[in-house]
Amino acid sequence: MIPATEEPSSLRLPVRAVTLVPIQPIDPAALDEISEALRLRRVKVHRRSPILRPRHSYDARRRQLKADALLQRVAEVPERPVLGITNADCYAGGLNFVFGIAQLHGGTAVVSLARLRTGADKSTFTARAMKEIFHELGHAVGLKHCEHRGCVMRFSDSLADTDAKGEELCASCSRRVPSYFQRALP
Ligand SMILES: [Zn+2]
Ligand SMILES: [Zn+2]
Repeated sequence: MIPATEEPSSLRLPVRAVTLVPIQPIDPAALDEISEALRLRRVKVHRRSPILRPRHSYDARRRQLKADALLQRVAEVPERPVLGITNADCYAGGLNFVFGIAQLHGGTAVVSLARLRTGADKSTFTARAMKEIFHELGHAVGLKHCEHRGCVMRFSDSLADTDAKGEELCASCSRRVPSYFQRALP
């Protein structure tokens, strides 16, 4: 059987395919929007059934989830790259919140949508989600932070930073992506 050919993306993205793992609480409409936005960018999406957050990941005092506990849970899924998505607000280490977290080179990442809707219409929300997703997946495939203006691997710890950068990798980050992650999996 010959697989249907799809025009490869001309966008500089860290991956060509990703397994999505929704972590509750998750907004199904947001998940649909994100899946569709990824497909439009020619990233193949394999969506798994939603999972519950691990019990020990919730910090009742902060009312936030521990991002690294979610990352560990998502890493139990065998596919790579794999991306956990949650609506819950997350934190890690000494930071009061994180947009996402990833295991460098590990092919695993988690993104929180909690803060991305602030003052955003639908298209701004989707654009922010794409940037945070590609940023964390960039780490997941081994990329570190980048100083290039516009590069999605530029560090952002505020929505203003996120809005100011682009959703693609700069040329030099793009060259560092291992070819394994540039395969469009069937
Ligand atoms: Zn980062
Ligand atoms: Zn870069």
